[in-house]
Amino acid sequence: MSHRTIPTSQRLLDVRYEIRGELARRARDLEAQGRRLIKLNIGNPGAFGFRAPAHLQAAITEHLEASDPYCHQQGLEESRLAVASQHIRRGAQGVSPQRVFIGNGVSELIDLSLRALLNPGDEVLLPSPDYPLWSAATILNGGTPVYYDCLPENGFQADPAQIEASITPHTRALVLINPNNPSGASYSRELLGQLVEIARHHRLLLLADEIYDGIVYDGAAFEPIAPLAGDHPCLSFGGLSKVHRACGYRVGWGVLSGDPARAAEYQHALDLLGALRLCANVPGQWAIPAALNGPDTIGTLTAPGGRLYESRRAVIEACERSAFLSLVAPAGALYAFPGVDVDKVPGFDDHRFALDLLESEGVLIVPGSSFNVPYRHHFRVTLLPEAEQVREVFARIERALSRWAPA
Ligand code: PLP
Repeated sequence: MSHRTIPTSQRLLDVRYEIRGELARRARDLEAQGRRLIKLNIGNPGAFGFRAPAHLQAAITEHLEASDPYCHQQGLEESRLAVASQHIRRGAQGVSPQRVFIGNGVSELIDLSLRALLNPGDEVLLPSPDYPLWSAATILNGGTPVYYDCLPENGFQADPAQIEASITPHTRALVLINPNNPSGASYSRELLGQLVEIARHHRLLLLADEIYDGIVYDGAAFEPIAPLAGDHPCLSFGGLSKVHRACGYRVGWGVLSGDPARAAEYQHALDLLGALRLCANVPGQWAIPAALNGPDTIGTLTAPGGRLYESRRAVIEACERSAFLSLVAPAGALYAFPGVDVDKVPGFDDHRFALDLLESEGVLIVPGSSFNVPYRHHFRVTLLPEAEQVREVFARIERALSRWAPA
């Protein structure tokens, strides 16, 4: 009897998500053998001792009994109202609860937003580095990622001229991730205005992943793009996972702004795809009004003395002291994306190094090339551990790099 394996979809051939890939599997094997590891691969606040604010938990418990039925495919009315109000307060045009889509995390909505848009061969402009779900979802939905460089030497900022030069008759959307995962770059009002002008001129849908909208450091201010886009169609994403430290609730939202007439079919397509999956997790949605109408709970973490601020400072100081590393200090989000000086470590390769670091030092990082960059001398760590653990991690990284450097 022959034992043929089950063939998988050809669509998966170019799909990668290495944050939870081979290295993470190797880490699990090592843990099963009793190794104690420091795992910095996932921006999972709960895994580092952060709790969702008590008023979010209370809102869920209070409404648990009301959460038995499916709700509307776009989400609970109360929750959509809270999201719409936040965006109207920010100055976005054309926003109403009917144009808010609540999903099982922003992850689900990234997929839906591209599925509703793309036909085979359509191109999507994505930042490099990107959060790799954007590339994966583009490919899975028949599209082609076209990357615009956000280079370390430019502070990981986008270059509008390069974006404009990459546009073809097949380009359908311009994606931005602000603040960016993995680089931590945050975009100025001026740059965002230039991106809006490009999108407007070439009639591209703006897809703005703003899941880290409240996480900025050192006085940097987050600028939402929707208010600058005015009547131009823009879908902005936010959620509870990061700013509200409740990623296990699986709650995110997408908000359509701009002239409703110009995106009526797209709005309908999003509603239809939402209906096909019935609705998002209902209990978690009750935390949305509590989160958006309640007190700010992130500011004390990102201000001097706050846990995220101090961890970020520990990363910056470790990179400054390092014989091998350079860093563009992250202005926002939950990650740092240091680069290794390849003149000092000539044979450096991000994947091989990450595997070596895991096996020899018990530290799990994500190789930079997992974020769709064409170079292999960066890596990503999350800022979520306490500062002391960050210092320990960078001591181990330095030790491993010294072994890689010629004597
Ligand atoms: N977008 C970005 C930039 C992210 O970093 C993440 C998670 O790390 C997501 C979206 C997905 O978040 P969730 O599905 O938890 O809302």
